[in-house]
Amino acid sequence: MSKVAVVTGSNKGIGFAIVKGLAKQYPGIVYLTARNEQLGKKAVKDLETQGLKVAFHQLDIDNQESIDRFSNFIKERHQGLDLLVNNAAIAYKVADSTSFMEQAKNTMRINFTGTLNLCSALFPLLRPHARVVNVSSRAGMLNIVKDAEFRNKLVSDNLSVDELVGLMAHFVELARLGKNESISRSAYGMSKVGLTALTKIQQRQFDKDSRTDLVINAVCPGYVATDMSSHKGYLTPEQGAETPIYLSLLAENWTGPKGLLWAEKKVVDW
Ligand code: NDP
Repeated sequence: MSKVAVVTGSNKGIGFAIVKGLAKQYPGIVYLTARNEQLGKKAVKDLETQGLKVAFHQLDIDNQESIDRFSNFIKERHQGLDLLVNNAAIAYKVADSTSFMEQAKNTMRINFTGTLNLCSALFPLLRPHARVVNVSSRAGMLNIVKDAEFRNKLVSDNLSVDELVGLMAHFVELARLGKNESISRSAYGMSKVGLTALTKIQQRQFDKDSRTDLVINAVCPGYVATDMSSHKGYLTPEQGAETPIYLSLLAENWTGPKGLLWAEKKVVDW
C-alpha cells in the first residue's frame, strides 16, 4: 500500500517548498492542497515542469464542508493517511486597517481552530507510524503571554483540548472588548501559542490511546521570504521547509523527542 502525505496551504511559500521537498524524498503520494483550486493546480503544474509529480485536492481549513469533502476523499481513495503537515495560516500585515478585534477573531479561527478541525477529521485515518507536523512559530513563544495564570494553564500537563479552545476563545473575547493587552498584543502570536499547546496535548492523547507509534511535533520554520513576511525573511522557502521535512521523515522506530516545538532540527524551549 502506497503511503499518503498531505500538506495544507501548499500552493505557495513554505508549504509549496515542503511539497517540493517531499515530492523528491517521500516514499508515497504527496497531496498539494490549496483553498483556491486554480492556484493549487497552477502550483502542481509548476512542479511538473520541474519533473516532480504530486497530486492535488482542494482544501480550505476555514470551511468545514471542504474539510469533510477532503477527509471523505482520503478515506475512500486511500483508506488512511501517513503524514499530515498543518502549514496553512494567515497573518495580517502591520499596516492593515482591519480592527484588532476582527484580526484576532479571523487569525484564531484559521490558524488554530481550522487546524484543529482538520486534525479532528483526519486523525481517525492516521495509519501506524504516521507523522504530523504543525507549522507554528517562535512568534508564539510562551513569553508573549503576559498573564501568569493563563500561562500556567497553557503549560499544564492536564490541559485538555476543550480547555485550550476555551483559553483561545477567552483571548478573542478580550480582543472584542479591547482588553486583550492583559494577555497579549499579538493575535498571530496567540494563534501559534495555541497551536504549540495543541501539539503537546495531541501527542499526550496519542500516547494515552496506546498509539505511541504516532509522532506529532510543532515547528518554527525560521524567518522566511514569503508573501506572509512581505519577502523580508532571510531564509528561502526551501530553507524554511528543511525542519518541517526533517520532522515529516522521522524514522518509524523514532524514540526521540515528540510533542514539542522544534526549529533548525532541534527542540527549542517553548
Ligand atoms: P504564505 O502566506 O506565503 O502562505 C500561506 C499559505 O496558507 C497559502 O498557500 C495560503 O493560501 C494558505 N492558507 C491561508 N488560509 C488558508 C485556509 N483557510 N485554508 C487553506 N490554506 C490557507 O505564508 P508562509 O509560507 O510564510 O507560511 C507558512 C507557515 O509558516 C504558516 O503556518 C506561517 O504561520 C508559518 N511561519 C512563517 C514564517 C515566515 O517567516 N514566513 C515564520 C514562522 C512561521 P492562499 O494562497 O489562498 O492565501
